[in-house]
Amino acid sequence: MKLLVVATALGPVGSGRGGGVELTLAGLVAGLLQRGHRITVLAAEGSGLPADCASAELWTCAGTPQPSVQHQGRDAAITMPLDALLARFWQRVLLEAPAHGFDAVLNLGYDWLPFWLTSSAPLPLLHLVSMGSVNAAMDGVIADVAAWDQRRLAFHTAAQAADFALVQPPVLLGNGFDLSAYRFCEQPDALLGWVGRVAPEKGLEDAAAAAARCGLPLAVWGLVEDEAYAAAVQASVPAGTLQWRGFLPTAQLQEALGRCQALLNTPKWNEAYGNVVVEAMACGVPVVAYRRGGPGELVQPGVNGLLVDPDDVEALADAVTEVKRIDRRACRQWVEAHASRAVLAERIEAWVEQALQP
Ligand code: UDP
Repeated sequence: MKLLVVATALGPVGSGRGGGVELTLAGLVAGLLQRGHRITVLAAEGSGLPADCASAELWTCAGTPQPSVQHQGRDAAITMPLDALLARFWQRVLLEAPAHGFDAVLNLGYDWLPFWLTSSAPLPLLHLVSMGSVNAAMDGVIADVAAWDQRRLAFHTAAQAADFALVQPPVLLGNGFDLSAYRFCEQPDALLGWVGRVAPEKGLEDAAAAAARCGLPLAVWGLVEDEAYAAAVQASVPAGTLQWRGFLPTAQLQEALGRCQALLNTPKWNEAYGNVVVEAMACGVPVVAYRRGGPGELVQPGVNGLLVDPDDVEALADAVTEVKRIDRRACRQWVEAHASRAVLAERIEAWVEQALQP
């Protein structure tokens, strides 16, 4: 197939602004290239694709990044900034893509515009929905596409898909990771880890409180999206509990992450998937998470981590003390079996082929 993959309009690929979608894009493109498909990626100016995506063509557009919809409020209207990157992306898709003979356009952005265009676009638009429900207008447009032809939609997990008004069982893709990019680490240090955008929906405060209860430091990796929130979390625990390590590229992140006894994953929202959960497991790090959203499906209690009731910090701390009984090798093996790039590429191929049937 010849596919045009449209990246998030939140910022350049590689900046971290796109959250998990950036890694999803890399995994999806590399996996599809490996299966012999021809891929073009449309992304913000300044984007860089990893080396194993080098044979993909890269189209870029300049423009003002889209504000992230999860921080706008449930009833917020859809906004479009001046010189919007999103508008430029979709103008290019509509005007240029048809002449290039793409079989389909694969949208990874969680934006109203591409969903709305689906039924009238001159070529097939498919959407990998990257978040659960965060905004009423988005819920509405996703439901409209589902009612028109739900085959155009895919989701990461069942918990995520359950947020939306669908008309048939959802296509679930999980996600795909390059196992060779994550080194297995057998012997951890006396350290807990937390990875994610530092923003309220990610619930860092609970992980910090649990680490403080356990008397272990918590290393925090990720882009600080909300400085005031980060400062409030810092102030909520004894000095020295949090080690701010910043946003690292995957190669450095996995090296440091592998040294953790456990990854704490404590989202306050219905996390669609939770890339960081699987990345930790790929390094052999068991995950202690809330039984909520994607992580609640990815963590197999006793095999690759432990689950506790959502928002129960005491239970989180208790689980940390039990995590030593998890076999670190089994964490890695779970990723190899369920979340490799090859597995994702096969699922995407099947989804697109089925969506393109008359
Ligand atoms: N990430 C990274 N370096 C860091 C911290 C995070 O590359 O220092 C990446 C991580 O690999 C993951 C993404 O940020 O792909 C976060 O994705 P996730 O699905 O966990 O959450 P989202 O941000 O999409 O809500």
